[in-house]
Amino acid sequence: RAKADGRGTYCVFDSRMDAVLKDQRELETELREAIANGEISLEFQPVYSVEDWSIVSAEALARWNHPTRGPISPETFIPLAEECGLIGELEAQVLQQACEAALQWPSHICVAVNLSPLQFHSGSLPSRVIDTLESTGFPPERLQMEVTESLLIQDVDRTFEQLEALRAHGIQVLLDDFGVGYSSLSYFQRFTFDRVKIDRSFVNEIDRSHTAKAIVEAIVRLGRKLQMGVVAEGVETEEQMHVLSAMGCTHLQGYFLSRPVNSKLVSRASLQNVA
Ligand code: C2E
Ligand code: MG
Ligand code: MG
Ligand code: MG
Repeated sequence: RAKADGRGTYCVFDSRMDAVLKDQRELETELREAIANGEISLEFQPVYSVEDWSIVSAEALARWNHPTRGPISPETFIPLAEECGLIGELEAQVLQQACEAALQWPSHICVAVNLSPLQFHSGSLPSRVIDTLESTGFPPERLQMEVTESLLIQDVDRTFEQLEALRAHGIQVLLDDFGVGYSSLSYFQRFTFDRVKIDRSFVNEIDRSHTAKAIVEAIVRLGRKLQMGVVAEGVETEEQMHVLSAMGCTHLQGYFLSRPVNSKLVSRASLQNVA
């Protein structure tokens, strides 16, 4: 279409592209500074056990409150950090902060961190994680690492080796956002995940869509058979909470139960019961 519109369109398009790229480069520089200045903070979203509605863990979610642009979503700055080689440093800070925060919680509550697939490229991830556990004094059994299926597309063997190393050290490994992207059931033949987290796109449709319900039921049954915990993420209504617990999900997470909160509130919330 640009062609048919003539030369002028190219110019407009070019200058728009220019503006987008310039903005991108600016944001990149600012992200680099934010990481260097320790301005990436964390919120924690509790995960509840269906058995007694207690908080069993909380997921660390990276936050960047930009001085002029305001809060920037991790859906924006995580991919940017991945593109410009900053993800290793960013996630090292996330892990460090997550361990330090969780040391202040009641000792039965685990902390989960999300892992970029790029972290597996160098092969040094397990030793870096173990170093952080040792320097912070955080028990490996209380750390959960969430990986997504996209990570399992490239370098499958190397990735599984590193996941095994983490697990051998006592760290729990969770499969995040299960059911979207490049889901392959064959991963379960190669690796024992401690838990699988059902993507919120299914969870959210569960009271409206037979298909979503059937998919969640199938994942729950699979989880049971393979002795994995099954976490439903993105629970937004009481109705969904009831349906999912009746279906046999072992854990629930979502805005209905709790939004992501600051670390101190995790301790406080753990003293109360949602039920
Ligand atoms: P995720 O790991 O699947 O985390 C869940 C996201 O869903 C979080 O968004 C959370 O706030 C949101 N959420 C939780 N409950 C509900 C709900 O009931 N309804 C809705 N609509 N949303 C809900 P957030 O914090 O914006 O993070 C988005 C994604 O960014 C995360 O998805 C994760 O993939 C990524 N992310 C965040 N921090 C990190 C990090 O340190 N490293 C990496 N690699 N990724 C991160
Ligand atoms: Mg996650
Ligand atoms: Mg998720
Ligand atoms: Mg997600």
